[in-house]
Amino acid sequence: MSALIDVEDLFAENVFTVGTMEERLPKKVFEEVAAVMENGGELSKSAADVVAKAMKDWAVEKGATHYTHWFQPLTGITAEKHDSFITHPDETGKMLMEFSGKELIKGEPDASSFPSGGLRATFEARGYTAWDITSPAFIKETATGPTLCIPTAFCSYKGEALDKKTPLLRSMEAIDKQALRIARLFGNTGAKKVTASVGAEQEYFLIDQKKALQREDIIFAGRTLFGAPAPKGQEMDDHYFGVIRERIGAFMKDLNIELWKLGVTAKTQHNEAAPAQHELAPIYESANIAADHNQLIMETMKRIAGKHGLRCLLHEKPFQGVNGSGKHNNWSITTDNGVNLLEPGQTPNENVQFLLVLACIMKAVDTHADLLRQSASNVGNDHRLGANEAPPAIISIFLGEQLEDVVKQLVETGEAANLIKGGKLETGVSTLPDFQKDATDRNRTSPFAFTGNKFEFRMVGSEDSIGSPNTILNAIVAEAFCEAADILEQADDFDVAVHDLIKEYMTKHQRIIFNGNGYSEEWVKEAERRGLPNIPSMVEAVETLTTPKAISLFEKFGIFTKAELESRAEILYETYAKTINIEALTMIDMANKQIVPAVIRYTKTLADSVLAVKAAGADNCVASEMLQKVTKTLKDMQSALTILTDLEKKASAMPQGKEQAFYYHEHVIKAMEDLRKPADELEKMVDKEYWPFPTYADLIFEV
Ligand code: ADP
Ligand code: MG
Repeated sequence: MSALIDVEDLFAENVFTVGTMEERLPKKVFEEVAAVMENGGELSKSAADVVAKAMKDWAVEKGATHYTHWFQPLTGITAEKHDSFITHPDETGKMLMEFSGKELIKGEPDASSFPSGGLRATFEARGYTAWDITSPAFIKETATGPTLCIPTAFCSYKGEALDKKTPLLRSMEAIDKQALRIARLFGNTGAKKVTASVGAEQEYFLIDQKKALQREDIIFAGRTLFGAPAPKGQEMDDHYFGVIRERIGAFMKDLNIELWKLGVTAKTQHNEAAPAQHELAPIYESANIAADHNQLIMETMKRIAGKHGLRCLLHEKPFQGVNGSGKHNNWSITTDNGVNLLEPGQTPNENVQFLLVLACIMKAVDTHADLLRQSASNVGNDHRLGANEAPPAIISIFLGEQLEDVVKQLVETGEAANLIKGGKLETGVSTLPDFQKDATDRNRTSPFAFTGNKFEFRMVGSEDSIGSPNTILNAIVAEAFCEAADILEQADDFDVAVHDLIKEYMTKHQRIIFNGNGYSEEWVKEAERRGLPNIPSMVEAVETLTTPKAISLFEKFGIFTKAELESRAEILYETYAKTINIEALTMIDMANKQIVPAVIRYTKTLADSVLAVKAAGADNCVASEMLQKVTKTLKDMQSALTILTDLEKKASAMPQGKEQAFYYHEHVIKAMEDLRKPADELEKMVDKEYWPFPTYADLIFEV
């Protein structure tokens, strides 16, 4: 029997929670902290000193020797630079561990190497990290020892955002303010704050670490660049929700414990569609904390996998022909007096506030479908979106039968008198209970689906930060709320005005609603007819950030300046080019040093048998035909390799920017696919003993 785990006791034991603060801080200081957490503003210097000391004492009691400002630069992952609490010893040689309010609030890492997209030249490389008081400090336990991590925003000398957190925080303030106006219009005077909440379901693969380390593509690119399909894929659906194997179970158990200690509410775990694919979902929380926690989840998954001799792959498409990984981003907006603005209630057709919120979201998503699409794009997700397993690259909203019908009635008649009811689910077994059915089934093919009292944005990539998608969601909905509130606050007759506005928005933007099969070819045509944008790739999505429409949105709510948007666009192009370049070089290396030599060795064996069989007087045609086939494919592979080698040289010599990124997208990617084809053919022909690295079957069926 394993030792009992007291989860209640363990939960958040490594977090400097509000409760811990209340316990350890003088009442006055605690109240000041609570007020800043609630309403924003700055902590006084004296209070910051007291908080810092309490935080340090707490951390030192838990064995911490170092602290770090933990931030999220535009690399998409987190960054940290550790400082110890050590201070200069006095004359007697005695040293005291210290941590000041100044050190807590502001850091200045020499972080000039992070991407800034031209916002910082290296000669003015100052970048600052600033404490985000709304996300709790925590202790990370790694091989370096326990380290106090302080969630921070990362900005340039002039205050420009250089990270994923700053815009997210700005967008949360925008939606807070605008949603509050809507709530007030409906008589909710008690609410002081509206929070965007997020629950992000995280998909991932686990494979054997030793095998992973035999493949350069997994090491350098996080995905396989070669690999013929295994004889079996996911067609039997026997992995999805299947029994969790012992080795994976042991990993999940440790992962949960580590996450719970960090205050992450790891809640659901199961096997996913593909062999070796799994999912973890936490309970939803404020978007900002959810974004921090999602980073911790990804980081902890990788670390714990290592301890179990496993490797965690977070890439969106680690294996061709096998389901990829995403991150369903469940989003809702709730007032601090407990009203979820996305709660339709029993009679959504009569819930005017809900209908207005819905109309605004339809307007927001239709107006800024391109931005939403961009927010879910990254290099890896190009392999998923639109590839018949993930939502298409076209944004649409799924409302379900009941709400779609309400919208239809409102558009047609201005009233929604009827409501389609769920009815009873009869199991036909007398000992099983009958259920009240939901009025709506699920639609797994929709990129943006209403699921009861939240929207589920399903396009997000598994490896990506959820910062950007939620920044965009908050921003576009804040804009729609603001425009609606501007009209309704001035209305002489509120009831008539709100009724008209709902009808107007729904009529204008009903084209964004789609309840059918999002994976189908017909939808692509239908969407085109409706004038909905279809942006198939990451590089094509970049420009959506700098359209006049986008600039006006972001500047209006102080979320991004034009310069920040331009810098982000530049970074995206650079990231794309660099990533594909690494992949191309990895393929070239594996082809030159592993595949080609292995196949040559194999042809020698084949040639030897051709001669030997003939000398023995037998029919050598099988070996001989095999030899012909293998050498011909090898020759094809060699020419594809030469082409890729040339193109990579040309691409990497181009100046950085849009043109280079497009060159990689249009030419280098194609050459990579052309190299992969003959190589994968060879894998199917060559004796397994000669093949230089583990195959798909070894990787995903033998974990
Ligand atoms: P599934 O989509 O797999 O059926 P659930 O409905 O249980 O899963 O929820 C998935 C995620 O959505 C979880 O992280 C959950 O906490 C989150 N979630 C549930 N309700 C809300 C809400 N009102 N707002 C935001 N996220 C929510
Ligand atoms: Mg889901």
